[in-house]
Amino acid sequence: MSVTLDLSRMAPSSSKEGAAAAKPLINLSGLTRPQMVAALTESGVVEHGKAKMRATQIFRWVHHRGVTDFAQMSDVAKETRARLAEQFTVARPEVVERQVSKDGTRKWLIRMAPGIEVETVYIPSVGRSGALCVSSQVGCTLNCSFCHTGTQALVRNLTAAEIVAQVQIAKDDLAEWPSDKEDRLLSNIVFMGMGEPLYNLGQVADAIEIISDNEGIAISRRRITVSTSGVVPQLDALGEKTQAMLAISLHATNDPLRDVLVPLNKKYPLDQLMAGIRAYPGISNARRVTFEYVMLKGVNDSPDEARALVKLIKGIPAKVNLIPFNPWPGSDYQCSDWTAIETFAAILNRAGYSSPIRTPRGRDILAACGQLKSESEKVRASAMRKLSMAAMAGVLDDEDEAAA
Ligand code: SAH
Ligand code: SF4
Repeated sequence: MSVTLDLSRMAPSSSKEGAAAAKPLINLSGLTRPQMVAALTESGVVEHGKAKMRATQIFRWVHHRGVTDFAQMSDVAKETRARLAEQFTVARPEVVERQVSKDGTRKWLIRMAPGIEVETVYIPSVGRSGALCVSSQVGCTLNCSFCHTGTQALVRNLTAAEIVAQVQIAKDDLAEWPSDKEDRLLSNIVFMGMGEPLYNLGQVADAIEIISDNEGIAISRRRITVSTSGVVPQLDALGEKTQAMLAISLHATNDPLRDVLVPLNKKYPLDQLMAGIRAYPGISNARRVTFEYVMLKGVNDSPDEARALVKLIKGIPAKVNLIPFNPWPGSDYQCSDWTAIETFAAILNRAGYSSPIRTPRGRDILAACGQLKSESEKVRASAMRKLSMAAMAGVLDDEDEAAA
């Protein structure tokens, strides 16, 4: 069992506490309930017999009520609250920028720690009521040739607390506390931000357990989608640990092309990937796999390739999300012509696959990002947001219809 440390929030120094005061505070927002029981017991603040009850109480304050300070936990004794605050925190990271688009899309730039900044985007009217696109890493170690994030070295994995914080911050802004409020605006989560979630599966799985816990935010696991470029050995663990919906960044139907577009394919070629997907736990017509396919002009967008795609995914309960390529400075690729995308989609539709084509939302606020932020990390994060907007809209297009 791992305990997540939020290194950005150090204990305030106190001469009385001496060396112990320098210990980083543990952010309880990043602990699953069993982890919280263990952390509270180890801390000595809560007696063993009461840890489970106390953990559920605190978990509800944090994830059901959204409180950010132990002082607000009115049914916890004052002395206990003070002792908790010496070792733990329930504070949020800082929101350094907030933008709202004309179409209701919201975007937050969040500083997790010095130099560690990620953007989180909320898109209304996607999924059941609205979806949040979260990041799992800062940067990415994989170098997909059409992806801007791929040009950025991995800065680091995000902790479960930092992943959950993206959801909490969105809920603060959307006034979504308590979590059982009627007509919730945030119904779906997609791991389609920066990074490869399956290279950070431990923290991603803990975050999903926390976000889906019925005592807290309570977003159903079938409304949580994890997008991967195809880390085959982790697919089974993803399904077993999280029961999340699976999205696969496919982008090509043969190995030579996929080797170029998604270089991870050299390690896990298509036959292995497809076998891994077919074996994904819980896959069914109500829980279909989404194949993401970025439309690159003259590269992967011919009718022959559409037919090859139909053949490749035959028998898999699936939908295909066609993503118009988002160009970025320095990239040689171009987005396919609209007619080519429509022809491609028609072939998939005729074969019985839902294949939504989506264009990005919130263009007005996203367009300004690159201009506003000069620091390279931030610029790249913004570029990533632009493209995943299109991707997530298609992934969630008809999930409720499928799950109904
Ligand atoms: N690393 C994970 C999740 C983040 S990427 C993955 O690769 O699946 C989210 C989606 O955006 C992926 O399908 C990715 O292939 C797609 N994408 C990346 N760059 C893009 C671009 N320039 N235009 C359109 N889609 C892009
Ligand atoms: Fe990483 Fe996904 Fe971009 Fe590939 S598409 S470089 S896996 S973020």
